[in-house]
Amino acid sequence: MNKNEKMIELINRLNELNYHYYTLDEPLVSDREYDVLYDELRELESELGTVLENSPTIRVGGEVLDSFQRHFHIAPLYSLDKSQDFQTLINWENRIERIINEYDMTNSTKTPELEFVVELKFDGLTINLTYDNGKLVAASTRGNGTFGEDILEQILRIYSIPLEIEFKGKMEVQGEGIMPLSALEKYNETHEEPLKNARNAAAGALRNLNPNVVKERGIDAFFYNIGYIEGMQFETDSEMKDFLVKNRFKVNSIYTHCKNMDEITQAINNIETKRDSFDFLIDGAVIKVDSYRLREILGFTNKFPRWAIAYKYEAEEISTRLLEVQWNVGRTAKVTPSAILEPVNIGGVTVSRATLNNYDDIERKKLRINSRVLIRRSNDVIPEVLGTLPTEEETYEIELPKYCPACGSELYKDGVHIFCPNTLSCKPQLISRLTHFASRDAMDIEGLSEKTIEKLLETIDLRDITQIYELEYDDLIKIEGFKEKRSNNLLKAIDKSKDVDLGSLIFALGIKNIGVKSGKDLADHFKSMESLQNASVEELSSVEGIGTKTAELIEEFFHDDTIHRSLDRLYELGVKSHYEDTKSDEVSFFTDKTFVITGSFENLKRNDIKSIIENNGGKVSSAVSKNTDYLVMGEKPGSKYDKAMELGIEIIDENRINELISEVK
Ligand code: NAD
Repeated sequence: MNKNEKMIELINRLNELNYHYYTLDEPLVSDREYDVLYDELRELESELGTVLENSPTIRVGGEVLDSFQRHFHIAPLYSLDKSQDFQTLINWENRIERIINEYDMTNSTKTPELEFVVELKFDGLTINLTYDNGKLVAASTRGNGTFGEDILEQILRIYSIPLEIEFKGKMEVQGEGIMPLSALEKYNETHEEPLKNARNAAAGALRNLNPNVVKERGIDAFFYNIGYIEGMQFETDSEMKDFLVKNRFKVNSIYTHCKNMDEITQAINNIETKRDSFDFLIDGAVIKVDSYRLREILGFTNKFPRWAIAYKYEAEEISTRLLEVQWNVGRTAKVTPSAILEPVNIGGVTVSRATLNNYDDIERKKLRINSRVLIRRSNDVIPEVLGTLPTEEETYEIELPKYCPACGSELYKDGVHIFCPNTLSCKPQLISRLTHFASRDAMDIEGLSEKTIEKLLETIDLRDITQIYELEYDDLIKIEGFKEKRSNNLLKAIDKSKDVDLGSLIFALGIKNIGVKSGKDLADHFKSMESLQNASVEELSSVEGIGTKTAELIEEFFHDDTIHRSLDRLYELGVKSHYEDTKSDEVSFFTDKTFVITGSFENLKRNDIKSIIENNGGKVSSAVSKNTDYLVMGEKPGSKYDKAMELGIEIIDENRINELISEVK
């Protein structure tokens, strides 16, 4: 294929993708994949020195649906030039300076200083509102830039949009219709067919003939531009934004005034660090020349203003192929699916697995083996499969497993989840159950880590938590990496753990829904294992924080014969729980105050300080806020200290906390 043919092929492919994206609101590929093809076409066009008239590089994308009335814009609407690196921005700035300099050389009027605003590039659907005589009279999509679809009925369902404004002249205001991410999440929890992406959900709602979809999806809008205004002239962008705010439009407050490239770079980076905290999608930042006079001098190309450019951030969504679904069993016997993906790079990280919640989720998202799936990754979040994109490859059904992938037992379904019934000897369940049993907040067996348990299971047939207390020196010394000292230390730690407080033992048993706190609450209420074991659902649900469902789970747990036998065996082997009524009625220094603990202490464990405070009527929270009374601070305190200083919160050091503890003991 020669270069001309290649160019035509790219144009056809991009126009096809545009149709699915702009007209049907059902993209065939992710934005990044589109952008790669678009850039390839742009390069080819500049190399060949030709641009065909149907090329997407010179047209504002978006055909208008026949089912809507056409709306002709007063002033044309444009797209934005884009950059993905700072060099492209520098080139853009140089180009602007050159045009202004040329203008200055041939004109005697002095032009204003070249300054910029950097703002959010919302990822939604452009909307254009017309006001006349103080009233909203029309609303439309961008369409092809000259005319769009009349969506006034839809826009009336966005309640933050003013129907009447103070300004009485004719004007056109542009903004972006968006779907808040919180609204998307809520929608997906309650609807059979999940929405893949907030951008298409917003565009799909606003271009839906049923205007109630806009309300149902909670669509909102931000405004950033006045494209046309009668009888008024703005000097700067901030003047225009102030005018919008005064007329009660929703203008996002995150925008920065910048004097040079360094400041622009900083503003772009700043927005990127905040990106994950916004309740709406952004796909970049927009850099605009601040002065309206300069904007006029710079003008427009066919497709975009020369006075603005988008800086696109790394994509957070990309498509790849679903290779297989792996099912894994965990401590609670739940068997959960993970998507194994053809490795793909998102934002510099290679992703090859993503979460799938359960089989219903797989069905809802219409996933099949070999499907092209759209996945999303944002910082600190495990990648998630959003849904499928069309593919020409053959796809296969994902089967709901019948048997446990680890032990082969027949699985059963409870609600939307599937479970392995073999809680006694299914190995992964056993490993995570034993690890949980030995963990710090449970039996606190130092040295019995997940790795050690895994190795232990290779050498001896450990099937139940009780067998931990039957372990002998000869068993331990066989474990890889275990010598005399380590074996003896572990035996000592196992022995020490036999004397355990009731709350920790309850937690260690791994009853569904029972965490550290509810273990302690149950201990405070029942004060012995025996009364807990014999408690009725009514009595259990009278404990603070224990709902009926959990109460039923606890009752069921203690009525299981195997659990009975295990508990009896634990007692036979010397495990005994004690309960100390540590809740004091006396008023102490700690009573009714809120503490945050930070840093490390020479002679105290953080958990011990926490228990003492709580047992004496105080509260311990994990983050410093204006409700914090004291910060208990050890060595190397970290950012909580800065926050406490900022809020003027009193600090208690290790000496002082020791004194306070000795007063209540
Ligand atoms: P664009 O969406 O990248 O940029 C222009 C738009 O940005 C404007 O119309 C406006 O609505 C919006 N915008 C948001 N915040 C703004 C602000 N503060 N100031 C000014 N404008 C703001 O450009 P486009 O031409 O509409 O679309 C091109 C992009 O759309 C592509 O780069 C690609 O990412 C995506 N696309 C994807 C597919 C696909 O198949 N996945 C197809 C076509 C286009």
